Amino acid sequence: MRETFLPFARPDISEDAIADVADSLRSGWITTGPKTQKFEKSFGEYVGSPYSLAVNSATAGLHLSLLAFGIGPGDEVITTPMTFAATLNTVVLTGATPVLADIDPVTLNIRPDMIERAITSRTRAVIPVHFAGRPCDMQAIEEIVQKNDLVLIEDAAHALGASCRGKLIGSPAGERHAAVFSFHPTKNITCGEGGMVCTGCEEAAEKISVLRQHGMSKGAWNRYAATGTPHYDILFPGLKYNMLDIQAAIGSDQLTRLDTFNERRREIVDIYRKELGELKGLRLPPEPDEGDVHSWHIFTPLLDIDLLGFSRDDFMARMREMNIGTALHYQAAHLFSYFGQNYRWKRGDFPGAEHVSDRIVSLPLFPAMTDGDVTDVVEAVRQICGR
Ligand SMILES: *Cc1c(COP(=O)(O)O)cnc(C)c1O
Repeated sequence: MRETFLPFARPDISEDAIADVADSLRSGWITTGPKTQKFEKSFGEYVGSPYSLAVNSATAGLHLSLLAFGIGPGDEVITTPMTFAATLNTVVLTGATPVLADIDPVTLNIRPDMIERAITSRTRAVIPVHFAGRPCDMQAIEEIVQKNDLVLIEDAAHALGASCRGKLIGSPAGERHAAVFSFHPTKNITCGEGGMVCTGCEEAAEKISVLRQHGMSKGAWNRYAATGTPHYDILFPGLKYNMLDIQAAIGSDQLTRLDTFNERRREIVDIYRKELGELKGLRLPPEPDEGDVHSWHIFTPLLDIDLLGFSRDDFMARMREMNIGTALHYQAAHLFSYFGQNYRWKRGDFPGAEHVSDRIVSLPLFPAMTDGDVTDVVEAVRQICGR
């Protein structure tokens, strides 16, 4: 057994990033400013987005994107039950109603045919989630969105570096479109906490940039800089969702390492595939469609609990006993109390998501994992699931 605990994810922060954070701390300018602008620019160049707006979380980015496209009370927004709660929470917080479309239990992504079935006269937007970094069927989803004149907001929290038919996730797909990334510590890159909204829509970008800082017509950087003007106006009641330069310093450095990080993620997935692929009782996530690139934010096999004779929670506890961390992404959202009570969702409503929710587990996957760490995971899983 391992002597030290192996977490399921761990960020890898370089000395350069630490030095740039110290630079910000010593400079006297620690909140949104030049380092944030630089991060936005390099991020936009990386994904190929005309506008990139840094915020303090993907949750904030989702909320602002919905507000910027005018989603609110009376509107319905279609999304997936197999996601983090923030995807639904932000819809609820705008006053709109979340509507769920079930997933494909193999790809774990929302089914385009289920989106079409969920559309009503009140539907205003669709939020697909690229689960684990596997691109959704964007061609089908974009067609549905265009045909029905809907807003498309991609929850791309898992999908930095992923691409769909040669197009990086985050590059614009139409006028009323945004993609939102997360820099939470477990994501493909981190800056402590943070997020980025990418869009090709100038109007939405302007609105987000104003809404993320109280609704003020100018950011603090413009007001307090040597050449700034002290006046501002309130254009809308806004929020406080701006990114700090301290965060952006880490983010900029992480972005330069993204390709290397994602290559290492890919290598680890290949080892898992080779060493665990034959194991009965475990169904590994499939490769992406031909021509697509997966960003492998998480590696999420499904346990065949009927064959194994124990639950996913038992599996996680046994891994923990062997000093290996796992995680649960995700419990199907419609089964949470709030959503169940308010939208009358119940077990049986989304069988694809429920099947996955009962069986899914995230094995350790992060770039700094050594081959030895990967071997420890493989050995532990084999021991628990039987050779
Ligand atoms: C992490 C995550 C979020 C929220 O990201 P934060 O930056 O923590 O707000 C939203 N959606 C999905 C699918 C996520 O995995």
